[in-house]
Amino acid sequence: MTSLDQVASWIASARSVVVLTGAGISTESGIPDFRGPDGVWTRDPRAERLSNIGYYIADARVRRESWLRRADHPAWGARPNAGHRALADLERAGRLHLLITQNIDGLHLAAGTSPDRLIEIHGTIRDTACLSCGDRRPMPATLDRVRAGEPDPPCLVCGGILKSATVSFGQNLDPLLLARAEAAADGCDLFLAVGTSLTVYPVARLPERALGGSGRLAIVNAQPTLLDDRAHAVVRGLAGDLLPQLVAGLGEDLHRRQAGDTGSIGHHEPAHPARRPRPARRTRDERSGHHRLHGRPCHRWCRRRR
Ligand code: NAD
Repeated sequence: MTSLDQVASWIASARSVVVLTGAGISTESGIPDFRGPDGVWTRDPRAERLSNIGYYIADARVRRESWLRRADHPAWGARPNAGHRALADLERAGRLHLLITQNIDGLHLAAGTSPDRLIEIHGTIRDTACLSCGDRRPMPATLDRVRAGEPDPPCLVCGGILKSATVSFGQNLDPLLLARAEAAADGCDLFLAVGTSLTVYPVARLPERALGGSGRLAIVNAQPTLLDDRAHAVVRGLAGDLLPQLVAGLGEDLHRRQAGDTGSIGHHEPAHPARRPRPARRTRDERSGHHRLHGRPCHRWCRRRR
């Protein structure tokens, strides 16, 4: 059995699948990763400064360059690829407990993953946040200010430093989100790490937590990662090719759920379960001969005497 078949069979029989994605799942949507062969930092190691909150606060030149890069970010024109869509299918088939992404591009939401099954643990580029008062609003309005000639636009509420609502190096993760991700990793029976070098902590500790529980760890990545030698399976290749193959076997579950039969698999329902079919409108009870309406006993409308 290939490692691809092995992981597909684990997904098919899993009770609780937790997925962690990284920049690698979005490279096929045209957004470069950081550390892959064409990664932003591989090609320009100085770019790492732009992701550090210390430099960002201290140096107006870093902020100006950051705003130019945000205005030009490939996320604005990007569309979800087959990998993002396969994970949305995993949820629709009732198998996904939680999707944790390190990505800030919003493509899992665009692919149809529901917000209550998704943790964007490093935030999102689609909003801005003020570093002083916390005022948060959609990014496009602030990018309009940049294009109109404000190279480092201040907060409209308090005049503080604005930034994308992302977590830079040196900033803390939201403790509640991290706790939810950790609990999911502890309790899952399959942890799937996709398109991540597993080098950014504390997120990279999540697959280790799954190994510490009773969960299996499967890695889908184009290049070796730090946890390959501890994983139960490693599938090497592109997420956009591999993820659709990994969930293809769930097609029947998917169709059953879309038809409204939630079946008995897994202990968690999809976030937006399809409506259960209602019993036939008017039926007859074979033994008593009474009618039933929507499954309930008949009332005055039944001609047969009780
Ligand atoms: P990383 O750059 O450290 O590693 C990406 C990994 O994905 C590499 O090992 C690479 O070989 C692999 N990869 C690249 N393309 C792939 C593909 N098509 N299929 C499978 N694997 C592929 O990324 P990381 O581990 O996510 O950590 C980097 C940090 O950078 C994260 O915190 C993230 O927030 C941020 N980031 C996000 C984006 C985004 O939102 N799209 C892009 C760049 C960086």
